Amino acid sequence: MTSRSNDPVLILGGTSEARELAVALVGQGRETISSLAGRVKDPALPQGAVISGGFGGADGLATWLTANRCQAVVDATHPFAQRISANAVLAAGTTGTPLVRLQRPAWEPSGADRWTMADDIGAAAQMVGARGGRVFLTTGRQDVGSFAGVRNAWFLIRVVAPPEGDLPQQHLVLRSRGPYRLDDERQLLREHRIDLLVTKNSGGEHTRAKLRAAADAGIEVIVVRRPPVAPGCTQVASSAAALAWLDQVTGQAPDSTKASS
Ligand code: NAP
Repeated sequence: MTSRSNDPVLILGGTSEARELAVALVGQGRETISSLAGRVKDPALPQGAVISGGFGGADGLATWLTANRCQAVVDATHPFAQRISANAVLAAGTTGTPLVRLQRPAWEPSGADRWTMADDIGAAAQMVGARGGRVFLTTGRQDVGSFAGVRNAWFLIRVVAPPEGDLPQQHLVLRSRGPYRLDDERQLLREHRIDLLVTKNSGGEHTRAKLRAAADAGIEVIVVRRPPVAPGCTQVASSAAALAWLDQVTGQAPDSTKASS
């Protein structure tokens, strides 16, 4: 399929990087469609056109890409959103649509950090069960259920939207959306007498302050490793790098006059 300059770029979104990229593309006058899973009631909306609610698996996404004459796909979903990323690889393959994975760099431990790595959420839940105590759980609403069977710990569960599935017996749910400030994170750890933090290695700045606050207080952090990126999938770490990739694969210089017209 030969792409035309006004054919859209699809951004698989739900992250700040995806929103950043949408701002840049819309600013360049490119046709941009951002896609959201549609499970959060009041999502932060990207600039440009937005669709929501999923495609119906890899086949559904492939059909959508063809029907919309999509020029290229930027998978800017969260590093732990595995299914949509796998679907994007399959759909891009069957339709011949260029695909790039935009993923923010992972956090790295340094200095006073006391990190214990977990291979997945289940392993993290086992580690918490082995330790007990007062746990600050920041792995997101979909993974809270993995900790439901841990009886010897109290959980402060911080989520943007209400958690899914069963909850641990002893808990407090705190609904909030980042970014978070270091002083506030310090205060939260003190107020709830937290002695263990559990997080995914999400990376980025919005939720990084909790790591510094934990390190300063000498608190252990269980960090869930990222799932691997599909082999052979081109990867970039910033929206600027995704823009450069798009210029290359679409062979298209951005038209900055369109945005202001
Ligand atoms: P997932 O398990 O990889 O995807 C499950 C299904 O949700 C997909 O098969 C797809 O449905 C739909 N979906 C997910 N992301 C979509 C998108 N951007 N556009 C259209 N459909 C999407 O995803 P998840 O882990 O539930 O994450 C859902 C969304 O939340 C993602 O967009 C992600 O960027 C964001 N998010 C996830 C996390 C996390 O820790 N997982 C954290 C912060 C934000 P169909 O098969 O019907 O297409």
